[in-house]
Amino acid sequence: MSQKHQAVAIDGPAASGKSTVAKKLASSLGLVMVNSGAMYRAVTWQILKEGIDPSDQASVVDALNRMTIDCGMSGGLSSIAINGRLLSEELRSQEVNGNVSIVAAIPAVRDCLVAKQRSYLDHNDVVMEGRDIGSVVFPETPFKLYIDASEEVRRARRAKDGEADAVALRDAQDSQRKTAPLKVANGAVVIDSSEMAIDEVVDIAIQTLKKLGWSHS
Ligand code: C5P
Repeated sequence: MSQKHQAVAIDGPAASGKSTVAKKLASSLGLVMVNSGAMYRAVTWQILKEGIDPSDQASVVDALNRMTIDCGMSGGLSSIAINGRLLSEELRSQEVNGNVSIVAAIPAVRDCLVAKQRSYLDHNDVVMEGRDIGSVVFPETPFKLYIDASEEVRRARRAKDGEADAVALRDAQDSQRKTAPLKVANGAVVIDSSEMAIDEVVDIAIQTLKKLGWSHS
C-alpha cells in the first residue's frame, strides 16, 4: 500500500447505510469517496447489455478483457465509465441488482477491479466502501469500519428508496462466495446502524477513526 495516502475502509451488507456514511465522512474529513460496488455493477451492466449469461464465467471474462473500464473522480466522488460511457442511474436497475453478486463472485473480475480500487490511493486519501475493502483491498489500513443493520431495517430502507432489491439474497451470495466474501475484517470496528439516524452513525464513525489514530495528511 502507498505510504503517502491513507484509506478508510467501510464494509457491510447491502443497504446498511455505508454509502451515505462514506459520503458524509468524505466531506467531513476531506477524502475522496470511492464506491466499489458501482464498479461491480458497471461490469454487470455491460455483461447484460452484451446479452451474456452472468453465470457463464468464461464468456464474462472474455467480455471483461474486451471492455475499457475507466475509474475516475468527479466532485470528490468516484465515477465509472465503460467503453467511454459514464454510468450512474442505470447501475441501480433491478436487472443489475439481481445479477451483480453472480458477476462479483468471479475471481478475474475481482482481480481486475481490486487493482483499480487500490490505484485511487496513489493520488488521494480515500474512504472506500464495499464488501472486502478491509479484508482484501486495504488489509493493512488501521481504519476499518463495518456498518451493519438488521435485515428488516435494510429491506425497509430499499423499499423507501423505491428500489427492487433482494438484499437478503445478495448478502447470502456475497457472504458465501469463495473469493473475498463479505465478512467483518480483522480489526474492523462494527457499528450497528439499525436504531440510529445517519448523523449519529457518522459521529460515531469519526470518533472511532480518531481513536484509531486518524489524522489527515
Ligand atoms: O455496494 P453495492 O450494494 O452497490 O454493491 C453491489 C454488489 O457488488 C454487492 O452485492 C457485491 O456483490 C458486489 N461488491 C463486491 N465487493 C465490493 C463491493 C461490491 O463484491 N467491494
